[in-house]
Amino acid sequence: MNIQANRLDRGFSRYQQEFEEAALKALRSGWYILGNELNEFEKEFANYTGAKHCVGLASGLDALWITFRLLGIGEGDEVIVQANAYIACVMGITMNGAIPIFVEPDKYFNLDVSKIEMAITVKTKAILVVHLYGQASNMPEIIRIAKKHNLYVVEDCAQSHGAHFNGQMTGTFGDVGCFSFYPSKNLGAFGDAGAIVTNNESLANEFLVYRNYGSEKRYYNKVVGTNSRLDELQASMLRIRLKYLNELNDERKRICEYYLSHISNSLIKLPDIAMNAESVWHQFVVMTEERDRFKKYLESSNVGSIIHYPIPPHLSEAYAGLGYKKGAFPITEKYADKVLSLPLYNGMMEEEIRYVVLMVNEYGK
Ligand SMILES: *Cc1c(COP(=O)(O)O)cnc(C)c1O
Repeated sequence: MNIQANRLDRGFSRYQQEFEEAALKALRSGWYILGNELNEFEKEFANYTGAKHCVGLASGLDALWITFRLLGIGEGDEVIVQANAYIACVMGITMNGAIPIFVEPDKYFNLDVSKIEMAITVKTKAILVVHLYGQASNMPEIIRIAKKHNLYVVEDCAQSHGAHFNGQMTGTFGDVGCFSFYPSKNLGAFGDAGAIVTNNESLANEFLVYRNYGSEKRYYNKVVGTNSRLDELQASMLRIRLKYLNELNDERKRICEYYLSHISNSLIKLPDIAMNAESVWHQFVVMTEERDRFKKYLESSNVGSIIHYPIPPHLSEAYAGLGYKKGAFPITEKYADKVLSLPLYNGMMEEEIRYVVLMVNEYGK
């Protein structure tokens, strides 16, 4: 048995015929950018999330930076974000010249709500909430704090397609929900793609204009925009994937529930689920003291694993300019040293799941 940390071929082959027929139809249509497939996907995804509007974009990073650009957040402004976020979250902030203000995560790996207010200054314009590893953050509390301080709330849902908090879908609590459809996400395309959802109609229209060179009518340019369009081929693939998203998320959940009830090793800390939160299990992240030893052990047992993420943004070379030293965010740094994501993918076979459990349970014995 040889188990990869992640593989996308099984998720493809399950619906292969549908994907191939839709791809051929898109290829043969003669229309490849900004057409019917995208229009339909935008309607269907808005409907799925419960948001009024969805605008397709070229990537998750584009969704983030264009959001901050359109909210007027830039040079000198501060945006609060959890310190253990993925690097793209931070780049979405800094691409407009705004400054990320890091806040430590809670034990669920999400923004520690009790530490947000201490980080707010006169320059704070927004809170970027990242529903990390698929688990919904405590949005009602974050919205309460944001209202009190008159801040925008942007949700990064690149790992939380379909996750709810108190029955409401992530991405619909704040001003804008940002999604990536990178192939390995819960809702993945076969290339790069992204989108935003919002209930704000005029803001949605600004996204429509901005993504297409600032043009509402062909060759009439209202603003200096960009090129960030979700193409017809990817949109047609996403429409198929979206039909099965709940089923795919349920499958991930069943695998993780098996892990939760069968992994039993005092060296391995299993993930916690917060009250009222739902996870769509983008990753199954455990923690252990000697993580690198554990990772090597798994490798030698033919079990793949991935570290999400080994270097927190404040210590990454890209952000050396922010001037942070090791020790600035001890909880985040501890997580970076201890986390490990176990194999998890759609189409994972029962004997593969059982084998992972067996190997994890044997560790250190
Ligand atoms: C994947 C991801 C992104 C970036 O999405 P891309 O489509 O790769 O640009 C942003 N934030 C989070 C939390 C992600 O997981």
